[in-house]
Amino acid sequence: MAEHSPGCTCFIIPPKMLRQLAEETPDTAERHCLLDQAEMSAHLRGQRSVAPIALGLVATATGEKRRTVYDGQNKSALPGKLVRAEDSKPSTDTAVNQAYDGAGATYDFYREVLKRNSIDNKGMRLDSTVHYQNRFNNAFWNGQQMVYGDGDGKLFLGFTSAIDVIAHELTHGVTQYSVPGGLVYQDQSGALNESISDVFGSVVKQWTLKQSVEQADWLIGPGIMAPAVGKALRSMADPGNKELTWSGDDQPKHMKGYVENGDVHTNSGIPNHAFYAAAIALKGNAWDKAGPIWYKALSLLTSNATFADMAKATAQAAVLLYGADSAEEHAVQAAWKVVGVT
Ligand SMILES: [Zn+2]
Repeated sequence: MAEHSPGCTCFIIPPKMLRQLAEETPDTAERHCLLDQAEMSAHLRGQRSVAPIALGLVATATGEKRRTVYDGQNKSALPGKLVRAEDSKPSTDTAVNQAYDGAGATYDFYREVLKRNSIDNKGMRLDSTVHYQNRFNNAFWNGQQMVYGDGDGKLFLGFTSAIDVIAHELTHGVTQYSVPGGLVYQDQSGALNESISDVFGSVVKQWTLKQSVEQADWLIGPGIMAPAVGKALRSMADPGNKELTWSGDDQPKHMKGYVENGDVHTNSGIPNHAFYAAAIALKGNAWDKAGPIWYKALSLLTSNATFADMAKATAQAAVLLYGADSAEEHAVQAAWKVVGVT
């Protein structure tokens, strides 16, 4: 049986954002719906998941790419009805195909670039459920699988169209299996957990689009929101920029702006921006050097790692990959200075 670190229930949309949107909506029914979803996200999040074996969701490792997509049929039960398996024909349902293709692109990235075989590095099957609940405004990794809502069509337009969102969710699984004991989903370790998902969410998107660090938009989730809500959830190039993101974006990009007891999606702006600074300094493609350095750092972390621990781990990883006193080591060290961690 595969060794397994219990994971968190990690949402792409912070409950705080749903609450803020609820406050702004004039429609009472809509407001209650948003508040219910915020409460549910807050309640579920950080919950330690049960062993996947008990749920029968994790099949034995085969070392090959294997994806399954389920239709949640607008209910809460997981995983739902099986609608697409590996090598079966595309569905007539766009969300099914997007979840399938996004999981495939993420698998390919980890396999080809980082030589990792799926989430657990043992060929774990990638399970996704689409059409979760009714007009559900979120997507999450629940410790065993990805789950996507359709969005209400008014504020959120669905979550499977954005490859960075899919790769973000899958990376929560990678973190869960790569950091010994997983990263506790609160305080700085929680913000690191979120940041690592944004980092690889963005890098997978860049790799898929073959974009250099200069060409990349460095945005998380453009396209999942109605234009009235904003352009994207977060910007790694400029956290807290309300022109690039949504009007409530309160992400700091420097330790000066660190929010005590802040949401994990808030303080993640700091390590996000450190990755961006390192990638820009290293030039070329983010998946050539910065991505592999951040990936290697995961195994050097502990469950309660702080930003300073991540700074140390990424510098160590750069030394392991490129040698002591290398340009790469210096670029990583400088990036953490940019955000005031070191
Ligand atoms: Zn997340």
